[in-house]
Amino acid sequence: MDNLKYSIENHIVCNKCVEELSSESNPEINLKSYSKFEVGFTSAGLQIWCIRHNINICHVNFGGKKLFADFRCLELKYNKN
Ligand SMILES: [Zn+2]
Repeated sequence: MDNLKYSIENHIVCNKCVEELSSESNPEINLKSYSKFEVGFTSAGLQIWCIRHNINICHVNFGGKKLFADFRCLELKYNKN
């Protein structure tokens, strides 16, 4: 189940989004809220696409291999008190 928990160590970013945000003065706008990505499978593998700039961010080529992917999700229960 650990693979279903948040485990991102290095973020993939759009360089154009980063560049635009570097001149942003509003502290409430950060890269997480600013970035708009589309992610999906392609004939080669998996692609991350910046919707804001309509450009490729990353295209992972699986090299013809079928990799294991886990699409289950864990919903964390928060104590609202
Ligand atoms: Zn972008």
